[in-house]
Amino acid sequence: MSFREFLKNMEDLNEVIHIEESLSPIFEIPAIMKSLLSANAPIVFFNSVEGYEDAKVVGNVCATRKRICASLGVTEDSLHREIINAINRPEKPKIVDDSPVKEIIEEPKLSKIPVLRHYERDAGPYITSAIISAESPDGEIENVSIHRLLVLDDRRLVIRLVPRHLFKLWSMAKDAGKDLDVAISIGVHPAILLAAASSPPFGVSEYWVANSLLKGGLKLIECEKIHAYAPAESEIVLEGRISCKEETMEGPFVDITGAYDIPRRQPIIEIVNVMRREKYIYQALLPGGPEHMLLMGLPREAMIYDAVSKIVPTVKAVNLSFGGCGWLHAIISIEKQTDGDAKNALLAAFAAHPSLKHAVIVDADINVFNPEEVEWAIATRFQGDEDLLIIRNARGSTLDPSADMETGLTTKVGIDATRPLGAEKEKFEKARIPLTERAIRIIDNLKI
Ligand code: MN
Repeated sequence: MSFREFLKNMEDLNEVIHIEESLSPIFEIPAIMKSLLSANAPIVFFNSVEGYEDAKVVGNVCATRKRICASLGVTEDSLHREIINAINRPEKPKIVDDSPVKEIIEEPKLSKIPVLRHYERDAGPYITSAIISAESPDGEIENVSIHRLLVLDDRRLVIRLVPRHLFKLWSMAKDAGKDLDVAISIGVHPAILLAAASSPPFGVSEYWVANSLLKGGLKLIECEKIHAYAPAESEIVLEGRISCKEETMEGPFVDITGAYDIPRRQPIIEIVNVMRREKYIYQALLPGGPEHMLLMGLPREAMIYDAVSKIVPTVKAVNLSFGGCGWLHAIISIEKQTDGDAKNALLAAFAAHPSLKHAVIVDADINVFNPEEVEWAIATRFQGDEDLLIIRNARGSTLDPSADMETGLTTKVGIDATRPLGAEKEKFEKARIPLTERAIRIIDNLKI
């Protein structure tokens, strides 16, 4: 299953719109992508990009939960379990020789790629939808992850490496005095993006997780000039090396919170080869938009779902809400069995997703996707002196402007908005009006 096949399926389901007028990747395309988010967030093709003949730009591909579920062939209710199953049962993908991405193999010239400039004060054009794969120096460990990449010139990028798995591989190469080979693939199936955003233990390749999500359908190719693998169905692959010596300033950049992340010294990638389809589709991804939140957030929701399921037998739903940047706020509905369950669930959620800052536990009668219902639960089922959990100086997200953006130290707050069990339970019931058949009929007619 390829990115193109997925887009074709979405076209058939009327999820796609096309813009024919020639537009600039500098602010113009991102402004239009953003404007479509309030109106069902369709996938949008920019069929003519000013100054770029070989590429079309596509945006908002994974901007709805519904489309991500459709890409995996799962329901919204089973999404978290599918992700956990794939992480627990990774399957080795096939390695193939032939691939449509080998149609053109050329010297790097990054200014020929329609990389978007998204926000006013961003440091420059940023590639935001690329998956980056690399191996440990002994070839034993492979990692695939998503990183923002600032274009410096025709052959160089600077990569933001947060201290996670790719950072660890780079540190290993650096200790051996070597640069780290990386394959940077753009225009890949949503399952590969989702897997690359997930966090299986170090040593488990996210390609294997993607292959499991795709039911064994992932094929990889070996790069031409460096040692790393790329999805055979990618639209464009940049082959490069993360320098063990050269660094430069990276940022400011609007990240998932919609606020500017601060500039930091980060390593430079030298691109040594480019493979692409002749007419390729460049995937644009708007930072701080719902697509960014869903791709980063859904694998974390799955981790929270899994961790809280070990505390209480029934976890109904988990939402890393858009208002909480799809990253910092979790709302979790459970069926509790004893009165301490919600507090244990809060602790499990904070452990499962280290960037989580605020979490709310509600009962299963509350829809976690409806902010007013969640607020109602806090209004009617929560007492600040008994149901509040405050954890100071814990590790949180460096993306939160109110936390320490260098160390990530933050204060975490948990809210137990579940009603007490036992005799008092009735006091907290959502009141209902009994419906007669006649009332239902009239209500249905009035809905027109
Ligand atoms: Mn990893």
